[in-house]
Amino acid sequence: QPPLDINRVRADFPVLQEQVNGHRLIWLDNAATTQKPRSVIDRISYFYEHENSNIHRAAHELAARATDAYEGAREKVRAFLNAASVNEIVFVRGATEAINLVAKSWGEQFLQAGDEIILSHLEHHANIVPWQQLAAKKGLLIKVIPVDDDGQIILSEYQKLLGAKTKLVSFTQVSNALGTVTPAQQIVELAHQAGAKVLVDGAQAVSHMRADVQRLNCDWYVFSGHKVFGPTGIGVLYGKEALLNETQPWQGGGNMIKDVTFEHTQYHAAPGRFEAGTGNIADAVGLGAAIDYVNHIGIDVIHQYEHYLLVYATQLLKDVPGLRLIGTAPDKTSVLSFVFKDFTTEQVGAALNQEGIAVRSGHHCAQPILRRFGVESTVRPSLAFYNSCADIDILVNTLLRLRRSRI
Ligand code: PMP
Repeated sequence: QPPLDINRVRADFPVLQEQVNGHRLIWLDNAATTQKPRSVIDRISYFYEHENSNIHRAAHELAARATDAYEGAREKVRAFLNAASVNEIVFVRGATEAINLVAKSWGEQFLQAGDEIILSHLEHHANIVPWQQLAAKKGLLIKVIPVDDDGQIILSEYQKLLGAKTKLVSFTQVSNALGTVTPAQQIVELAHQAGAKVLVDGAQAVSHMRADVQRLNCDWYVFSGHKVFGPTGIGVLYGKEALLNETQPWQGGGNMIKDVTFEHTQYHAAPGRFEAGTGNIADAVGLGAAIDYVNHIGIDVIHQYEHYLLVYATQLLKDVPGLRLIGTAPDKTSVLSFVFKDFTTEQVGAALNQEGIAVRSGHHCAQPILRRFGVESTVRPSLAFYNSCADIDILVNTLLRLRRSRI
């Protein structure tokens, strides 16, 4: 078993001490959102107790503290993603807003009728709908990379879709519905060979594996703070600096300008040009604390431990009669999606909730990929490093008991 002191780790997360329906809470809904360690909760309180101000450094002492905390968090995100510069890190509300920002700024500016966008069949609605809206407005064509029966992208089919008209490839690094880890490096390389830009949706990846945007060489990378043990309402758009600076901002207002007259406005360089108005300062600082926490545990240790848990859980679930796992690619992380014969996914979710187990039952905002497997809904336990084999045992035993109730 990998080197992780599960009891010590669990003690860092206050909510994991909750009781639900008379049972210890078992949080297996990590793909929807993750729980927050004490250090993140305390950091946000500390901000409001000692540093709260708008960020305009020179004005007064608290403004300097708030600015330092906010820009300090930006540097933590830069290091976390291994971006070349803090100028490449834009704070936004979440992955959804980051993708909309790219669609509504770069997409509006650079795409024209007849241009093509390639998405994968695995995408979350957040990486489908903004492109559809843009396509309808501009007359673009969206093409979709198919997946095989295990839920992995078929690279040879992808290559057939690429062509001179391809301007953008936008895809997820990890599927939120199936857990598939896509061959991101190859997808990016092939897109660049075709002359297209690439956006990687890292929403489900950053809490499970090392992110390295320079190695990946993507043009944009997006994630949400709340899925990596940070607060809701804060997220990140990474973009290559030159690309961000040649893109016109989508929102105008305070903070993002160098000079304004009624005739003309000059914008700041990135990241300022994309941060109009007062941002979510406290939660950016909270995200910085979450990254510190992940670094303290070690993302490689997390990756190793979660892989061990995933293998353990997969083995046990495979042996539950009437359970069909959906998403069986060799390269997976965190997510176990399934349907259960004779039970609706809502019934399974409710039965698990009775035992204090939190999972998501539904379409997971990824309807196209579920329909690819002939279902509208799955039960989706999803793991984080504070889960244990004991959590999995209780999940599996509850499912076995449900099964026996129908025999
Ligand atoms: N992409 C993926 C792969 C996701 O799993 C999610 C969240 N479920 C999103 C994008 C959107 O993230 P948010 O709702 O935090 O903006």
